[in-house]
Amino acid sequence: MYSFSIAIIFCLLISSFIFFISSPQAEIPSSLVPLFIAAGIAFLFYKLRNDLFLRRHGEFDRIEERINLINEKIEDKKATLQTLPHQRRRVSFLFNVSQNLIELNNPEQIFDFLINAFSDLFPKADTSLLFEFDRETDTLSLSRSLKTHDFIIRAKNGDLLDNWVLRHNRSLLIDDIAKDFRFESHALDAYGQRGAASFMVSPLSISHKILGVARVESKQKNCFNLDDSRLLRNICDLAAIVLERANLFKRAQDLAIKDPLTSFYLKEYFYKRLKAEIRLAKNKKAKIGIIMIDIDDFKSINDEHGHIVGDAVLKRLSRSIVGVAGGTGNLVSRFGGEEFIIALIDLSNDEIKQTVEKLRLTIESTALKFRRKMINFTISLGVVAYPADGLEVMELIDRADKLLYEAKNKGKNQVCCSPNL
Ligand code: GH3
Ligand code: MG
Ligand code: MG
Repeated sequence: MYSFSIAIIFCLLISSFIFFISSPQAEIPSSLVPLFIAAGIAFLFYKLRNDLFLRRHGEFDRIEERINLINEKIEDKKATLQTLPHQRRRVSFLFNVSQNLIELNNPEQIFDFLINAFSDLFPKADTSLLFEFDRETDTLSLSRSLKTHDFIIRAKNGDLLDNWVLRHNRSLLIDDIAKDFRFESHALDAYGQRGAASFMVSPLSISHKILGVARVESKQKNCFNLDDSRLLRNICDLAAIVLERANLFKRAQDLAIKDPLTSFYLKEYFYKRLKAEIRLAKNKKAKIGIIMIDIDDFKSINDEHGHIVGDAVLKRLSRSIVGVAGGTGNLVSRFGGEEFIIALIDLSNDEIKQTVEKLRLTIESTALKFRRKMINFTISLGVVAYPADGLEVMELIDRADKLLYEAKNKGKNQVCCSPNL
């Protein structure tokens, strides 16, 4: 536009110049001609200068914009560069954790490893907790904890946050619990009372299958960032795979030595374990009580109510055996069909007799409800003790079996103890 108007002015000037030169008789004196020319040239310069200045100015603006953009990029890169050593440490830590984790095939070791890894990874955390999920009871239970202060863990089955993560199978990152809008404020009071402010909670899950929940918390607000939360989740994902593999491995091992209905040892494995216990008892001069159990008239329970009820009776008996005689160290085995055998380790004669009678009474007073009918059952028991009744596994079992037979002959629902007890 500018160059167009300049061209017009220039043309006018030239034409007026030609006009004055060619018409000396014109009214305007020819002395004014140089003035016209000078004014025209001055005007032309002024326009050219303005045009040049505006064009330069626009270019300057564009260059400045580009410089700003480049500066921003430089700042960005600088910030990334600054976090690089930290990121590198994390990646190498994650690499080490993965390498060590995948070598573990025992759930207990995996949980121990994880809780220690959390304290190395998140040194600013005050508490780290690991919960295991029990699918049968649909609950969490505290498996490991690590604390830097005297905080008593009351929610052994997980609290509001752990159960939220369990139900949603999603991670939680909370910068300041007092300001979190996802939970009702009165439900969060407990956290405020014990001074916990920021949290990271992650599921230990493979796809939709939840195996547990991990919680890391701090008394400081904004203690963890999104990177921390992602790292926790990555480790939990990997741990879940390793844990599942360990569980499958354990299940496969259990199948070889345990009865699937009752989860008690199979006969052959029980012999092996009892043999080892006898060796230990020999050195310690300890006693072992051996109890043979048989359900009375089990065939008629099956015949009358069906095999499903028969299985339920077997399960109920196994639960009572665990409740009364399943203490640490004791061995329980499903010997066959409806026969069970127990080894009570390191108990006195009186304790053995009391335990056995308690078991008989417990079963006698137990009733199973099936299709609105109450089903009662009883057991007979034969009891011997190592070393008084024998030094070898088979010898002891044979004697206990004879005493059990005696209890059956005497009218069932009773205990027959060896005279040595
Ligand atoms: P007693 O009082 O003399 O011991 O009589 P009993 O009927 O208990 O003994 P018997 O040996 O005549 O019958 C045992 C029954 O147990 C026979 C078998 O069908 C049943 N049984 C064995 N294993 C299982 C099992 O896993 N489930 C069920 N439901 N029944 C079983
Ligand atoms: Mg039998
Ligand atoms: Mg029987």
